[in-house]
Amino acid sequence: MSSPTLRIAFLGTGTSQGVPVIGCDCAVCTSSDPRDHRLRSALLVEYGGTRIAIDAGPDFRQQMLRQGVKELHAVLLTHEHNDHIIGLDDVRPFNYRQKKNMPVLALPRVLQEVRTRFAYVFDADPYPGAPRLELLPLEPLVPFQIGELSILPFSVGHGDMEVLGFRFGAFTYITDMKTLPPESREAIRGTEVLVVNALHHKPHRAHLNLEEAVDFVREIGPREAYLIHISHHMGRYVDIAPQLPEGIFLARDGGSVEIGD
Ligand SMILES: [Zn+2]
Ligand SMILES: [Zn+2]
Ligand SMILES: [Zn+2]
Repeated sequence: MSSPTLRIAFLGTGTSQGVPVIGCDCAVCTSSDPRDHRLRSALLVEYGGTRIAIDAGPDFRQQMLRQGVKELHAVLLTHEHNDHIIGLDDVRPFNYRQKKNMPVLALPRVLQEVRTRFAYVFDADPYPGAPRLELLPLEPLVPFQIGELSILPFSVGHGDMEVLGFRFGAFTYITDMKTLPPESREAIRGTEVLVVNALHHKPHRAHLNLEEAVDFVREIGPREAYLIHISHHMGRYVDIAPQLPEGIFLARDGGSVEIGD
């Protein structure tokens, strides 16, 4: 019997403001090409009957609706920046449908920040209808299981902040990276499909730019790589995509990839 196929879907591929940016008249923000419209970065991962989201930013509700998600088994958080967590309140429909608390897995520091930012959820007597979250701590390089999915979290440098990347078999997801410690590099060795952030063309303190992301992909050597967390300063899809080396793609919202064993 063959094992199920891992399927990922790009819920969002934009940087923290999203694209278009409010009030911006640039060629990207005024483009009618849907490939230039980017919600905040997040990913859906499906394997057999298990379905999880990585990050739940301000567009979470819209992303679940667009992707037609009816059942969700967990939310993994890469870090506590607003563009990655502030949509957590919208797990409520899953609470009601599944009659369960939503498992939220992240570094202990990130879970503490979730408690602060969503204090009403953790009240001694929360109001009826508040989301129900089950906070579960993760430790880099300690693998864990959600349903049929085996997941390896690893440490990623985001400026001065430690964030998590996740490996699922032959697939690795990294967002908001500037640097990668050697033990994480070791942990993602043999990745066949890689997702990694590329902000725009100029250097940035906390994010890879396009040139750095391409160099990183070459170093890791996956069969295919998809770039996410993209700013409007990257340029239009139609102009940038053809310039990328073979096997490296600008991810687009709603796009999906299947990864066999
Ligand atoms: Zn971000
Ligand atoms: Zn713009
Ligand atoms: Zn961030």
